[in-house]
Amino acid sequence: MAERMLKFTTTPRATPAKRAAEARARDFHEIYADFIDAKAAEQAARCSQCGIPFCQTHCPLHNNIPDWLRMTAEGRLQEAYELSQATNSMPEICGRICPQDRLCEGSCTIEQSGHGTVTIGAVERYLTDRAWDMGWVAPLRPGPPQGKSVGVVGAGPAGLAAAERLREAGFDVVVYDRHDRPGGLLIYGIPSFKLEKDVVERRTRRLAYGGVEFRLNFEVGRDASLADLRARHDAVLLATGVYAARDLAAPGAGSAGVVAALDYLIASNRVGLGDRVPAFEAGTLNAAGRDVVVVGGGDTAMDCVRTAVRQGARSVTCLYRRDRANMPGSVREVAHAEEEGVVFEWLAAPRAVTGQADAATGVRAARMRLGPPDRSGRQSPEEVEGADFDLPADLVVKALGFDPEDLPAALSAPDLTVTRWGTVKADFRTQMTSIPGVFAAGDIVRGASLVVWAIRDGRDAADAIGAYLTQPALAAAE
Ligand code: FAD
Ligand code: SF4
Ligand code: SF4
Repeated sequence: MAERMLKFTTTPRATPAKRAAEARARDFHEIYADFIDAKAAEQAARCSQCGIPFCQTHCPLHNNIPDWLRMTAEGRLQEAYELSQATNSMPEICGRICPQDRLCEGSCTIEQSGHGTVTIGAVERYLTDRAWDMGWVAPLRPGPPQGKSVGVVGAGPAGLAAAERLREAGFDVVVYDRHDRPGGLLIYGIPSFKLEKDVVERRTRRLAYGGVEFRLNFEVGRDASLADLRARHDAVLLATGVYAARDLAAPGAGSAGVVAALDYLIASNRVGLGDRVPAFEAGTLNAAGRDVVVVGGGDTAMDCVRTAVRQGARSVTCLYRRDRANMPGSVREVAHAEEEGVVFEWLAAPRAVTGQADAATGVRAARMRLGPPDRSGRQSPEEVEGADFDLPADLVVKALGFDPEDLPAALSAPDLTVTRWGTVKADFRTQMTSIPGVFAAGDIVRGASLVVWAIRDGRDAADAIGAYLTQPALAAAE
């Protein structure tokens, strides 16, 4: 093994080829090419096969990374794929969009010794894309029928991961979603230059072929109450995500030309999927030829600025009230955006949207500095007096984050207990909510988080539901 591995001192770190910024900014295709076989093996061989693999500890799914890297280096690709999919319901999706710099790769030991991390995410993506091409991704095989059914509310990654595992365990599974396509934010939030839609669609098709029933355009709370669903199924999983967008509190924020990030991204994704979107055609949700200011510093803001570039905006500026080191978005995504021509105004907060109510023309911004740390240890931004500045903007995108909707009201379920942040309260061992037989997973429990955590929660919830339905005494005793 040692001969083939531990190549980090002689082989430099390399990611798959990235398309040139100028070319990629003209379309919505993914920006990384595929690893060629030899390159994947070479990069996997850089792993030092740590006795205590911190990469694995810091992967929310605790993927067996060192072993599948070794198998990849040895050319045992199908075995490597089998091992990687054993702990991850969507390895090729995580390989594409996990912020690896904050998770597995951020803890890679050889990075600490200055050699540059193993490109774990790129190898994971390579293995599963290869598995799809080679026909190694087996159809979903339902387990022996349990004679019980589970209703899953929400077809995002948490709901899909749970549905797969429940079906494998032999349960009848119905997934309800208010959208017309399954996938949640994988389809309608995350742009296709990060995650092409056919990658998501082949996953949902596999579930449908395996007997998972999708009831789309079905909004729980409108088309049925939670109580109706509870009566229809032996257990229910809430995986509804968080969708209440935080608003911009500044004069002029109600002007035409100020739009919510998710409306903007959904419109762009729908256009990419071939749908007709009147608000895009009318220009309301289209950045072509416009001066765009995106307010916010998270992944959603990064997706908006990069979408605006691709739509042909005249200028794209991101306003964020803290500095680069303190922004919540992935460092990698900021670098991509900068390469594609986005201007970042760090330490800047919107004071007002200027222009008329029927047409925004600009943003007046206050210059900020970082003050002393608050109780959480994070430095709070403070205004610098007399340093305001103006930016031209006829499209202002609000990307300030999301909170949970009022779920007890939305689902007509007053007995559903929520935390003071509005997330659903679920037992951390069983994931059961205050309503017996109703479970919860994903962003609706954690608050806005990551796809990989949603997958983890969905898988755990499926196991907890399985235990509840097959061993009620055990589940009650837990
Ligand atoms: P969601 O994906 O939000 O799915 C919830 C589903 O429930 C939706 O389909 C919704 O239509 C449905 N639903 C809600 N209420 C009802 C109802 N009453 N009845 C029926 N259906 C309902 N994470 C990453 O790891 N990497 C990234 O690069 C990344 N980029 C992101 C970019 C954007 C723009 C956004 C907004 C988020 C991003 N995230 C990213 C976060 C990630 O998408 C979420 O953490 C993840 O999708 C949460 O999964 P979920 O299944 O809990 O919820
Ligand atoms: Fe890394 Fe995400 Fe894959 Fe885990 S799932 S190994 S965190 S890319
Ligand atoms: Fe390999 Fe890095 Fe994980 Fe160590 S931490 S096992 S070097 S990928």
